[in-house]
Amino acid sequence: MTFDKLDLIEPILNALQHEGYTQPTPIQEISIPIVLKGKDLLGCAQTGTGKTAAFAIPILQQLYQNKTNDKIHRKIKVLIVTPTRELAIQIGESFTAYGRFLNFRHAVIFGGVPQSQQVGALKQGIDILIATPGRLLDLQSQGYVKLNELSIFVLDEADRMLDMGFIHDVKKLIKLIPAKRQSLFFSATMPDSIRVLAGTILTDPEEVAVTPESTTAETVQQEMYYVEAANKKDLLIHILQDKKIATALVFTRTKHGADKVQRLLVKAHIKAEAIHGNKSQNARQNALRNFKDRSTRVLVATDIAARGIDIDDLNLVINYEIPNIPETYVHRIGRTGRAGLEGKAVSFCDVEELEYLRDIQKLISIDIPVVKGHPFEAEFELTDKKSKVKPKVATRGKGSGIDPCKGKRRVGSDRNVSKPQASKAPAHSDAKSENTSKKIFFRKDSK
Ligand code: AMP
Repeated sequence: MTFDKLDLIEPILNALQHEGYTQPTPIQEISIPIVLKGKDLLGCAQTGTGKTAAFAIPILQQLYQNKTNDKIHRKIKVLIVTPTRELAIQIGESFTAYGRFLNFRHAVIFGGVPQSQQVGALKQGIDILIATPGRLLDLQSQGYVKLNELSIFVLDEADRMLDMGFIHDVKKLIKLIPAKRQSLFFSATMPDSIRVLAGTILTDPEEVAVTPESTTAETVQQEMYYVEAANKKDLLIHILQDKKIATALVFTRTKHGADKVQRLLVKAHIKAEAIHGNKSQNARQNALRNFKDRSTRVLVATDIAARGIDIDDLNLVINYEIPNIPETYVHRIGRTGRAGLEGKAVSFCDVEELEYLRDIQKLISIDIPVVKGHPFEAEFELTDKKSKVKPKVATRGKGSGIDPCKGKRRVGSDRNVSKPQASKAPAHSDAKSENTSKKIFFRKDSK
């Protein structure tokens, strides 16, 4: 499939060529025609799947085709709301790239910086507004943002938005935009809370989902350490004593856990910062910058916060806790070993996490080699039989890999997206969670 099969206009095709894109990613292939038809869309996909272009390209085309003569005073026709400044900036860059041969103006607004420049851009008149919720409401209440001409609304990274406590802002916002509009809603996971929110925004949507990766990068060397939970901190410090490790990304399951690990590393004189949903955008961005330029050696992150992090040359991923969703493991270790570079992923497994390990190994069809003889080695083993040990999280999802968009699943980054296996199969077996929207699912090729 090539982009010219998608009925795109010449200026957009030229821009895509300019970007060096040869093929649409699966989410683009399916979503672009839906959005061009003016339909509402519920997209289950995360950063890295090409989802920004999946909405930006057809939005630009619609604007072009419905062009009015309001150039003298442009009105906001498209609003994209996204939870973080980083994402807002990235989306703005995408509109610049795909719209380079079109004559539309956009502005990006977010909090934590003075508003004067943003107000200046709004006053000049724009067609597309990309915003984080807080600053958007703020400028709207001051009269700088007029949304009465809006025809397309995009809510991006909805699950992260809720995780960051933006639910009330989003609800307020929905009341401010015209009821007659096209709405596009994206989330990496689709727990019930997100489906409920989507239901208040979308009308008869088409549903598109990218299923998680089920293979682990071949370039990533994987190791498993069996260790008692209480010894994990010492094992972490022990591993990081190796000065050859220039950068390490440490994953924890919770925000609180991330802070705890960061503090214990700092206490051990290992430069570390933590990123998670409770940190301010500024703090997260600074931590990320310090990690990328290597002034911070260790970044401790939760899964949601680490989404979209793209770090070249990452030496090591450490799973301080084994994720209870097997696809999350694949996504985490995919942060290293990028672009064919060698990478390493080590995981700390305590006795209560053996169940999770079993699910992961089943998903990736690999027995992860166990490191023997380390100073904190615990006395247990993974057997073929179901462990009698009760898992810590009793409600964790069963039936791994069925539907990433159900429950608290996290989808693997489908970065190197390959062609969909033409599956248009309904992914929900649970009739209760079915709604009337049409669902189109596709699965990444697995090796
Ligand atoms: P996103 O999921 O929107 O954050 O996109 C992830 C990355 O994929 C971005 O760097 C895009 O520039 C890139 N990308 C998006 N679509 C394509 C495509 N069709 N071909 C190649 N790269 C793409």
